[in-house]
Amino acid sequence: MASALGSVVLSEEKLKTLIHRAKQWALLYGVQMRKAEDPSNPATVDFAPMTLFPSLLPRAIFEEAKSLQIHFQRLMHRAAHDHAFLVNCFKTVIQVDEFTRKMWEIYLEVQKQGLVQPLSLGLFRNDFMMDTKKARFGKNPSHEVPDGLELKQIEFNAIASSFGGLICGQLPVHRQTLASAGVEVKDGQLPENKPARGLAAGLLKAWEHYNVKNAVILFLVSQVERNSQDQVWLECQIFEQNPAVHVVFATFQDLIQKGTLNEDRKLFLEYEEIAVIYFRYGYVPNNYTTEKDYNIRLTMELSRAIKCPSIHYQLVGCKKVQQELARPGVLEHFIQDPSIVSRIRATFAGQYSLDMDSEGNKAVEMAISSPSNYVLKPQREGGGNNLYGEEMKNYLIKIRNSEERQAYILMERIHPWQQKNHLLKLGMDPSLQNVVSEIGIYGVCLGSADQEICNVQVGHLLRTKSSSDNEGGIVAGFATVDTPLLV
Ligand code: ADP
Ligand code: MG
Ligand code: MG
Repeated sequence: MASALGSVVLSEEKLKTLIHRAKQWALLYGVQMRKAEDPSNPATVDFAPMTLFPSLLPRAIFEEAKSLQIHFQRLMHRAAHDHAFLVNCFKTVIQVDEFTRKMWEIYLEVQKQGLVQPLSLGLFRNDFMMDTKKARFGKNPSHEVPDGLELKQIEFNAIASSFGGLICGQLPVHRQTLASAGVEVKDGQLPENKPARGLAAGLLKAWEHYNVKNAVILFLVSQVERNSQDQVWLECQIFEQNPAVHVVFATFQDLIQKGTLNEDRKLFLEYEEIAVIYFRYGYVPNNYTTEKDYNIRLTMELSRAIKCPSIHYQLVGCKKVQQELARPGVLEHFIQDPSIVSRIRATFAGQYSLDMDSEGNKAVEMAISSPSNYVLKPQREGGGNNLYGEEMKNYLIKIRNSEERQAYILMERIHPWQQKNHLLKLGMDPSLQNVVSEIGIYGVCLGSADQEICNVQVGHLLRTKSSSDNEGGIVAGFATVDTPLLV
């Protein structure tokens, strides 16, 4: 099976030494996460779960994903500002999914009171896998990439899209592991990648538009965060690009205790005016422990600060929206250029609503009769929430006739291309194994309902996991950070 190693064979001894060295390099370059057993202590970091070598990625797939980014962002931006479309998307989900209903109520309240801040900032990540449904494998699959791999979207992340920081350190680590193993790399096979730069530039652009010299950028975070180093990357990039701009870290609790909204709807944390709120928290139900947390989120949304993301940007990141966008004719409602429509549509896997109608009934029965071909997805983030195979089937049998099913969408299962790599993460044997990758493209979007101020692609994230794991997510414990080796 194909691998960045090609025909290079490593002795057990050499492999062991290289793994040991690679961990040191990862720590040096900042590919770090706090230890699971002591996540509140900034002094106890470990290397982030990673592959030992880059994984192969066909250049055409990579280029297509990157060049589609600004079009996807424009689509999501327009969808987020289309009230009728959002109402249609969420009308059934909010009957049964309490968290989505809470977010929806915040959205409605903001609409009712009027937007004092027309601008939204998105630091997005659009994730894809390489589907093998139409792939043609050659005679010698060990050294080749099959023809016909298809770029298929997994999901569009609109809130707290992570790893754009620490992935900046992964390329130098992988350059060194390849060189140490004696693998030759040609010019251009390892594309430069510094998403933190572009993401920080996006936060600074929003800050400039707020246009108050002493106002700060607020990172809304959790009390304890294993992936804090990723946020530190962004904080430090902001400093490098504009040392005059201050970043403050705060929790919902801090804002509840020390936050105020004045009559102009300017938001203050004690005496500091907030220009930009960057949400790295607040995207799943357990981030909101009491009604006070929802109230402070509403206060933040009502404020003049530029939110990253605003509540309507967050909502378009829901799986339900992705499923609605995949309906015939919907892309055409948002995008005029037919060639862009067809390129975006080509990345969509089959997606089905589970509403209480004949379409939903049909989808449920389809999934129950061939469970290996579908994934059941709730409106959640962060990995570990989807259902697959027999577990999905049994659950669907249970909720088959219940409105509960409206909280989910059904998605055609992608069977991603497998190759070989070593996964370095706690509790896993680092031997060469079958792995699959997910490529994410980062981008920044800043604009209002009728104006696009900034729309750029700023880098990528390759995440790789064992082919035997269904789920993704690095903090969730499945995937590892990786670098694409273009072929
Ligand atoms: P989350 O917002 O929780 O990350 P995702 O849609 O990304 O939700 O799903 C989590 C993981 O599940 C993905 O990283 C991917 O590994 C797997 N996955 C999601 N959708 C599919 C699919 N259609 N086919 C195969 N695997 C999928
Ligand atoms: Mg997600
Ligand atoms: Mg995901």
